[in-house]
Amino acid sequence: LGRSRGTDYFRIADQLTAEERGYWNRARHFVDDEVLPVIGDHWERAEFPRDLARRLGELGLVGDGIAGYGCPSMSPIATGLVHMELNRGDGSIGTFLGVQAGLAMQSIAMLGSPEQKERWLPPMARVDAFGAFALTEPTHGSDSVALETTARRDGDAWVLDGEKKWIGNGTIADVVVVWARDVADGQVKGFLVEPATTPGYHAERIDGKVSLRSVWQAHITLDGARVEESARLPEAHSFKDTARVLAGTRNAVAWGALGHATAAYEIALQYCTERTQFGRPLVGFQIVQQRLVTMLAEVCSMQLYCLRLGRLIEEGSLTDTIAAIAKMNNTRKARQVVADARDLLGGNGILLDFHVMRHMADMEALHTYEGTETIQTLIVGRDITGVGAFA
Ligand code: FAD
Repeated sequence: LGRSRGTDYFRIADQLTAEERGYWNRARHFVDDEVLPVIGDHWERAEFPRDLARRLGELGLVGDGIAGYGCPSMSPIATGLVHMELNRGDGSIGTFLGVQAGLAMQSIAMLGSPEQKERWLPPMARVDAFGAFALTEPTHGSDSVALETTARRDGDAWVLDGEKKWIGNGTIADVVVVWARDVADGQVKGFLVEPATTPGYHAERIDGKVSLRSVWQAHITLDGARVEESARLPEAHSFKDTARVLAGTRNAVAWGALGHATAAYEIALQYCTERTQFGRPLVGFQIVQQRLVTMLAEVCSMQLYCLRLGRLIEEGSLTDTIAAIAKMNNTRKARQVVADARDLLGGNGILLDFHVMRHMADMEALHTYEGTETIQTLIVGRDITGVGAFA
C-alpha cells in the first residue's frame, strides 16, 4: 500500500486520547492476529467462535463504557473504536459484542438494581457469562412497541408467556433480558430470565442464515416461565426505557458499519494495486480510481459522524434523532462501499478468502437490526416535520 495513508485523511487519530488509542490498538491487533486468520472457516461452518468471544473479556474490551462493576473504563469513543475494529474483522464478532455489552449489559446497567448489577455485570464483562436481549417477536419487529409477550404477577413471582424471534445468544445465554407487557397496567417491563433454571424457557437456533453466520440467533418460546420479583428490572417502567437502551446501541451500529466499509475499501485498494488487466494494474484506470476515491470519501464522512457521536455521548446530548441519522447514514453508505469493493475484486470477490463478500452479506443484517434504515428515516422524519408517519 506504499504511499497510502490508510483511511485517516481527516486525522481522526489526532483527536483521540492516549487511552482511546490504546483501546483502538488492542482491538486492532486482536482482529488482525486472532480473528482474520480463522473467521472465514467459522463463517462457512456457521460456528460461533466461543474462544474469540472469551478473548474479548480477557482483553478488557467488553463493557461499552459502563462505570464500575468490573467493566473497563472506556470513553464513548473508545467504545465506538472497539465496535468499529471488531466489525472491520467480522460482523459476527461485532454483533456478539453489540448484544453482550450494548444490549444486555447496558439494559442491566441502565435499568437494573444494585444487586442485579453486582451479580451480572462483572462476569459478563469477563465473558464468563453470556447475555441476550429479547425484544423482537415473530409478529412484531419494526413495531416492537406493540409486543404481545405477557407478564402476569403471581404472588412474589411473575409468569411470562409469548414468543421472541432473532434473539442473539438466545441459545447460549446465562441471562436473557426479556421484554414483556404487564397484563395489569399494560406497560412494557424487563425481566432477567436465567434459561438454565427456568422451566418454560425454550430456545431454537435459527439456521440457514446467509448473513452473520458465526453468531447465533434464537427463536424463543416462553411458556409459563416463572421469575422472581427480584429479577424484574426496577427502572424499566415502560417502552420508553427500552428505547433508551436502543438509542445507545444504534450508535454502536454506526461505528460497526464504518468498520465494514473500512475493511472493504482497504481490501479493494490492495487488490486493485496488485491485479493487472489490459497490461496495467487496475489502479491505473481512471474509472477504478474514481470508484476508490468515492469509497474513501464515504468512509471519511462516516468517521466524522462517529467522532461527533462519541463527543455528544460524552456531553450527555445524544438524542434518538441523532442516533437514528447516524445509523441510517452509516449503514446505507457501508452497504454501497462493500458492494463496490465486491465488484472491484471481480470473481475473487465472491470467495471467502478475499473477505469482501462476507462483509457484504453481514452488512445486510446491520442494515436491518436495531431498527431498519426505513424506521430510522421515520424517526428523523418525525423530528423534522413534527408528523409521525409510522402508522
Ligand atoms: P419488519 O418490521 O417486518 O419489516 C419489513 C420491512 O418493512 C422493512 O423493510 C421495514 O423497514 C419495512 N417497514 C416496517 N414498518 C414500516 C413502516 N411503518 N413504514 C415503511 N416501511 C416499514 N431483536 C432482538 O430483540 N434482539 C436481538 O438480539 C436481535 N438480533 C438480531 C440479529 C439479526 C441478524 C437480525 C436480522 C435481527 C435481529 N433482531 C433482534 C431483530 C431486528 O431488530 C428486527 O429484525 C428489525 O427490527 C426488523 O424487524 P422485522 O425483521 O420484523 O421486519
